Formats: sequence, C-alpha cells, structure tokens
Amino acid sequence: MDSSASLHISLEEKHGAHNYHPLPVVLSKGKGVFVWDVNGKKYFDFLSSYSAVNQGHCHPEITKALTEQSQTLSLTSRAFYNDKLGLYEKFATEFFGFDKLLPMNTGAEAVETAIKIARKWGYEKKKIPQEKAIIVVCENNFHGRTTTIISFSNDPIAKENFGPYTPGFVKIGYNDVAALKTIFEKEKNIVGFLVEPIQGEAGIYTPDPSYLQSVKTLCNEHNVLFIADEIQTGIARTGSLLAVCGNCSCEQQCERQESYQRPDILILGKALSGGTYPVSAVLADDEIMNVIKPGQHGSTFGGNPVAAVVATKALEIVRDEKLFQNARSLGAIFRSKIEVYAKSSKLVKEVRGKGLLNAVEVNDTPESDTAWNICLALMENGLLAKPTHGNIIRFTPPLVLTESEMHICIEIITKTFKQFEHRF
Ligand SMILES: *Cc1c(COP(=O)(O)O)cnc(C)c1O
Repeated sequence: MDSSASLHISLEEKHGAHNYHPLPVVLSKGKGVFVWDVNGKKYFDFLSSYSAVNQGHCHPEITKALTEQSQTLSLTSRAFYNDKLGLYEKFATEFFGFDKLLPMNTGAEAVETAIKIARKWGYEKKKIPQEKAIIVVCENNFHGRTTTIISFSNDPIAKENFGPYTPGFVKIGYNDVAALKTIFEKEKNIVGFLVEPIQGEAGIYTPDPSYLQSVKTLCNEHNVLFIADEIQTGIARTGSLLAVCGNCSCEQQCERQESYQRPDILILGKALSGGTYPVSAVLADDEIMNVIKPGQHGSTFGGNPVAAVVATKALEIVRDEKLFQNARSLGAIFRSKIEVYAKSSKLVKEVRGKGLLNAVEVNDTPESDTAWNICLALMENGLLAKPTHGNIIRFTPPLVLTESEMHICIEIITKTFKQFEHRF
C-alpha cells in the first residue's frame, strides 16, 4: 500500500473509534458506479454504501439541489416553517401513497420513530393497557444501532454489554407464518410487527413469495400494524419501487397491483437522499400518524430544507431514470450468470437476492476468512464488495449500472472466484 493510503488508515486507527473494520482502500472520489482511491485507481462500487447510493455517486442533479439549497437556507429547525418541507412532504406522500410523512435523518431514528408511533397508536387506538405494548420482530433482524433497536437484535456483536435492554419486543423466526399466527393468537397486547421485506444485513434472505401477503392478512385480522423497514430494500433496489410492491415495477406506489402488500407504517432511509445527505422518513395514514401531537416527537435537523430538496430530487431520479426496471433486468442477468458459475464451482454455495440486492454465499464457515480474502482480491481486480456475516458477500451496485458494465463486473467476479477454487 502506498504512503498516502496508509497515512489515512493510520490516522483513523489512532484517532478514530474502532467501530468498523473497513477494507484497506482509501477513497477520494466517486462518480456514478465508480469510485477512485487516493492513487487514482478506479473501482466499480458493488456496495453502494449499503444501498444508499442507488442513484450513483455524486449524481449531478442531487448535488446541484444540495449545493443551491445549502447556499440559500440550510436549517430553520421545526420551530419555524420553511418553504421546502411541505412541498417535499406532498411529493413523497403522493409518490408512496400515504397520507403523511414524518421526516428524520438516519435509518435508526426512523425505526425509533415508527416504534414510538406504533406504541402510541396501541395505547390510544387499540386501547392496550399502559406499559404493555408489544412489538413483534424477527430473528436475525437488522434495524439500526440505538439502545432500543439493539435490544431486540440477536447478533451478539451488536448487543453484548450494551444492556439493560429495552423491554416490549418479542422475536419470532423470519419467514415463519405459523409462528406469527401463534404469537398473534396468544398475545393480545401486540401493536406492531416490524419486518424487513428482505433481510439485508443478515445476508440477503428473501422470504417465500407469499410471506408478505400472509403477514399483511394476519396483521389485519389481529389489528396489528404492519411496519415495513425498507431502509435497505426500498427505493428501487429490489426491482420495484419498494420490496412490498412485489412484482409490480410501475413508478408510482399504488393500490391497483395485487402483489402490493401495503404496510401500515413504511420506513425509508439510505437511498432517500441518494447517499448525499442523511435523510430518513416514516410514512403512514392519518389515523396512525395523527397520534403524534406537537412536542411528542422531533428532531432538530429532521425536515430541514436541504434534506427536503435532496430527497425530492433523489426520488425524481429513481422515477425518471427508471432505476427499478434497470435493477430488475440487471439483477436477473447477475443471478443467472453467477448461478451458471456456481454449478461448476466448489467455492460458491449459492447466489440469492432480488433486483440488485444480491449475495453470494461462500462454501466455508462463517468464521473463515475466505470471503474477506475474496473481497481483497476483488479490490485488486477493480471491484469493491464487502462480506456480511463472515462467508456471505453482498453485491449491490448503484442502480445506474449499464448492462455492458454488468457483464464486465460479472467477468471480474468470476475471474476472482476462480483464483480461490483450487483451495476447495
Ligand atoms: C441501514 C439500515 C438501518 C439503519 O440505518 P442507519 O442510517 O445506519 O441508522 C435500519 N434498517 C435497515 C434494514 C438497514 O439496512
């Protein structure tokens, strides 16, 4: 490694908290699907900042909106109105088909917000006894890093020694309709079921095709709020506007599609800003959102005018550039090519995913460093990806990737896998 890269790495090592374990690459520039390191070496970005950069790095229109607004008015707090928030709220609620939006900044904050709304709804509308509200969550969930959210994680690394934990959550298996039915029948104080339509951090686990429909039906039957965390799956990543849209690839959230399993509460983050700025949101209809009254929830930066114009632009780009269609078709190409490779491979155990949210599972133990070493080799070969949970490599490029670029990337990936085959 050259001295410039090692300088930046050692600075972080010395002066930064060690809460991440990055690949040893120091990036200084990004454009579209590419990033460049401090030596000018170019890479395909196949992580996209955990699906925040769906619209591609430094999208010129998002950057323009960000720059212009930050030179005009950046923050008013919600103590005053600003002339951008209402326009954004109108646009985004129409875009996703909900009555109201509550603006926050990070994904974890939006999840916290959804939890608070669901609990308040439970006490005030469902008449659950005080302090008894329960939210059902799934094994191997990932919803963020706050104290409450890690309280219902079952990842020991995320959880250990951060207690005491927030009560009020019950875990059941993911993709387990019978378990959901059982808990709903047994427990009367359930206010919400919080679920990722595809489990991202856990390793890109797609549930059975009928899972979300069963979830929705059960939630309706038991007067439980269906809370979809689409922070990673949403905004075109899986080949439709939202993963809950199922097979629909239209550009507007709508009631017409049979495959659309409309959540009662929708949580968005990450690509809501195209990766330029932290923007998250919770969407719901009036009868749910109106339980929140002045003073009961808030955020100094949430709903600031820069966030409002950035998010509006980021969504317009998803629609205008038809990113869901591109994610859908390129994802199909990716999986079919890697599947062909996997058939003749002892190294690649499985490829799975939807749209451009995909993962390759390496045929080794989660404790092994095989996937990490493959990612180092991919880096050498000009493509950046990161393992999740040891032996799973996530492949999630920006959705602006072209088909010919996808073929080049598949070439790089299979070539790199081949370098490791002899060990298996
Ligand atoms: C990334 C992520 C979060 C947390 O978002 P932050 O912006 O990192 O707080 C929550 N839920 C899901 C599904 C995520 O992928």
